[in-house]
Amino acid sequence: MDENSTQLRRDPHHGGWVLLPFQPEREQLLSISPEDRPADSPNALDDSEAPGVHMVWSVKSALPDGSEHQVRVIANRFAMYRVEGQEDRQGRGLYDMMRGVGAHEIIVESPNARDSILTLTPYQYALTLRAVQERIRDLRKDGRLKSFSFLREWTCQGNGVASHPHSQLIASSIVPLGLSNEMDSAWAHFKYKERCLFCDMIRQEMHDESRLVMEGDDYIAYCPFASRYPFEIHLFPKKHSAEFHDEPGERLPALAAAIRDAAARLEAAIPGWRVLMVLHTAPVPSKRMHIHSPHSSYYHWHIEFLPYPPGFVDWYARTGTHVECTPPENAAAFLREVNVPSPWE
Ligand SMILES: [Zn+2]
Ligand SMILES: [Zn+2]
Repeated sequence: MDENSTQLRRDPHHGGWVLLPFQPEREQLLSISPEDRPADSPNALDDSEAPGVHMVWSVKSALPDGSEHQVRVIANRFAMYRVEGQEDRQGRGLYDMMRGVGAHEIIVESPNARDSILTLTPYQYALTLRAVQERIRDLRKDGRLKSFSFLREWTCQGNGVASHPHSQLIASSIVPLGLSNEMDSAWAHFKYKERCLFCDMIRQEMHDESRLVMEGDDYIAYCPFASRYPFEIHLFPKKHSAEFHDEPGERLPALAAAIRDAAARLEAAIPGWRVLMVLHTAPVPSKRMHIHSPHSSYYHWHIEFLPYPPGFVDWYARTGTHVECTPPENAAAFLREVNVPSPWE
């Protein structure tokens, strides 16, 4: 296996794959919480002309309010997945592993480093959402890539931190455990009731109203019945749709407005906390991965807002895949060699 790549190991115990970075530089970066990272960002957010920065996509567009805005997408130098090479699947006894194949891109949401999710107008943020759609459409042409996740993190009332507004797009050749669990629940509900689980939940939340946060013409936000995080919010399109890149362009400003509304409410609720915003969209159907086809009838794309205390990095919540920076071989070697008194002494 290539020294310079990440490795995916199948977890026979809990299911799914675990990503091991195997690169000291990346290990260090992944284990530092975002607010503690050095000011000289490794992602070249400010200068897309800087050496080593690979621009993937860019758009400068006139907005309906008469202003102009620019969004750029650059390759992440510390990518969890890389597009070059093959999966290189290997078996070792009963264990399976392969290279982490995919793409990891940074979306720079504004040319202005001081902008935040709350200063960008819905028309400006809609351009970021369009970038996500266009990148997913383009990455889908690579038949190896099966799932796409878009994520963004920020600190509520994190005034004074100028960290260039940005988000991440990760495409991978695996379907993350978090997403395949959701697909399984949705499929079980559909098989029994012949209805979309999420459409049913949306209808019930609209009727019940006790967990509703915001309801517009096209989008709805509520605190889920079995919330896993304090102030967790789920944002859904009211009209059934499995894949985010199919969402009509004319609805993106309304979606951006709904995102900004949720962000503003969390800003008041949990000052000082971090918010992780993740997009869940249906993976490419695949027989090998037992993703039932067509999933367009039973999965429903959505955005989850997951608040967490500062200083904590949860890759499973971010991507649906556990990322472990300490290879078990190194951990076991350390634990074997450490000097401890005998428990019998
Ligand atoms: Zn639905
Ligand atoms: Zn979800």
